[in-house]
Amino acid sequence: MKTEASIQPKQEIVLTGDRTTGKLHLGHYVGSLKSRIQLQQQYETYIMLADVQALTTHFHNPGLLSQSVRQVALDYLSAGIDPERATIFVQSMVPEIAELTCMYSMFVTVSSLRHNPTVKHEAKERGYDDLYYGFLGYPISQAADITFCKASLVPAGEDQIPHIEQTRRIVRRFNELYAPVLVEPQILVGERLEGLDGGSKMSKSLGNAICLDASSEEVRTQIRRAKTDPARVHKTDPGHPDICTIYGYHSIFRPDRCEDIRENCMKGTIGCAACKAMVTAAIEHVLEPIRERRELYKHRTKDIDDILMAGTERARSVARQTMGEVREAMGIDYF
Ligand code: ATP
Ligand code: MG
Repeated sequence: MKTEASIQPKQEIVLTGDRTTGKLHLGHYVGSLKSRIQLQQQYETYIMLADVQALTTHFHNPGLLSQSVRQVALDYLSAGIDPERATIFVQSMVPEIAELTCMYSMFVTVSSLRHNPTVKHEAKERGYDDLYYGFLGYPISQAADITFCKASLVPAGEDQIPHIEQTRRIVRRFNELYAPVLVEPQILVGERLEGLDGGSKMSKSLGNAICLDASSEEVRTQIRRAKTDPARVHKTDPGHPDICTIYGYHSIFRPDRCEDIRENCMKGTIGCAACKAMVTAAIEHVLEPIRERRELYKHRTKDIDDILMAGTERARSVARQTMGEVREAMGIDYF
């Protein structure tokens, strides 16, 4: 697995994406967006609005998806994704991805999908018992997302590790069965941001997130209400930073100040309110430029649609090329 320091200066192709199930939040920024913004400077970058993958859990509410496609696109542009450098595209409008999913599904076993720890965790979190075929198989669809553009690097959160492993197995199997057409990707793991409730990762579906479009007032209120060390009642009680959500935020947003905070928290010489005020300021420092760019883009709906159409067209032409190679390798390019 690669770390940020070990990326080699060669021509990587980068692919990532997000489910279009609502606005993006700080967890997305920390886990993946931040590295995409850096990587787009150097590498060919594809960023996918994963509306088909969103359907695996939201098939009863497709209206939410179409609305989210534009919302997430606005979040990308506000966060600093540059459409001149990165190809932003809509998953459902690249039908070759569905074709590749179908081909790969021939040689992926149901038990390998059932044992995928992220699928298991998400199924439990969502209360799924009898799994939908599309939901169980979404890691195969993700392999198609990654391989259509021959991506070699996927910046994503740690929950994606089993999916990238699955993709690597699919690539190896395809290449040995037919011909060496596909590229084995590596993951660039971003940090994990805990949710405001302190119990699980920050997530759209769990309602424990600070959205990238939150106002200063919203950030202040959300941080004020966030869970800290429950054993700490008075300001002078010694705190336990390792179980405190806010300390976790310090380590991500202000790592330079971490040791100091830890020491003072454990000695009871800094209170939770002061600590939260510092985290709020650090988060504001991240969100302020995002707000400024959002102001520039938010009324330019036509421009955003043009960006998505151009990106989708670019992605399609690459996908057609790969699909041609896949058909040829499999000997099913009949005419
Ligand atoms: P949903 O609840 O619809 O699954 P989500 O909030 O989990 O949404 P995804 O679209 O599933 O977000 O995730 C997109 C990318 O962002 C993935 O790479 C994932 O690992 C990363 N990511 C999401 N939440 C976090 C988080 N709290 N910390 C770090 N990375 C995250
Ligand atoms: Mg998710």
